Amino acid sequence: MNRPLVIGNWKMNLDYVEAVHLIQQLGVVLKNKPLEHVDLVVAPPFVDIRSVTSVVESERVALEVGAQHASVHESGAHTGEVSVSMLQRLNVGWVLVGHSERRAMYAMTDEVVAQTLRTVVRQGLNAVLCVGEELSVREVEAHQDFVSAQLHAALEGLDEKSRPLVTIAYEPVWAIGTGLTATTTQVGEMTEHIRTVAASLSLGDVRVLYGGSVNADNATALMNEGRVDGFLVGGASLKADSFLAIAQAANDCYDSKR
Ligand code: PEP
Repeated sequence: MNRPLVIGNWKMNLDYVEAVHLIQQLGVVLKNKPLEHVDLVVAPPFVDIRSVTSVVESERVALEVGAQHASVHESGAHTGEVSVSMLQRLNVGWVLVGHSERRAMYAMTDEVVAQTLRTVVRQGLNAVLCVGEELSVREVEAHQDFVSAQLHAALEGLDEKSRPLVTIAYEPVWAIGTGLTATTTQVGEMTEHIRTVAASLSLGDVRVLYGGSVNADNATALMNEGRVDGFLVGGASLKADSFLAIAQAANDCYDSKR
């Protein structure tokens, strides 16, 4: 089992004042009760990042800061976009790549996902590649093939130096923000499949996360029976107590199996 990673995706929630408040709350709890066996990341909206990293650095909050997206381009005339080097300058260490909301709402194709992932890892940042099927795909039992195709499209030919910077998040689209969590059996089958495909692409040790309506009640079972290396958390990452309860579950599962 890999050391767990729990990432909070705040999506388009929390302005910079609210973001600072949440990060301070997380800092206080983590100082009183450190989580030794889990890596924690939060991915705020772009406009919050500077404020969040300032608090993380000045108050030594035990987590890293990520971004929800980055431009496929390195610089130039791309109105509204944010480059990886701009994020790097803000001490952002992680970038979500190809979240299903970016794929569905902002026409992010497999090709753009692959190029963005390369832009991220080329600069030495960690890329969290998001994959997952829609319900209609699962209903015709094509989910494994669908996810394989996404993995191949994004990871084929990735150079050896970049591979350790990749994490894969399995996020079935039908489970995101819906309250419908995939069963532990569904997650276990898919994570095994992802590990097999990743190994065939020379990413044998990659961390595989699950995302989709994770909460404090289902996190332990998903870790143990779904055999994931952690979580990508949306809704439940917007409150310190629910986010840290999930992180605690990941921490304790790992600790009990070491
Ligand atoms: C997500 O957006 O990546 C996600 C998993 O959201 P939620 O936890 O709200 O389903």
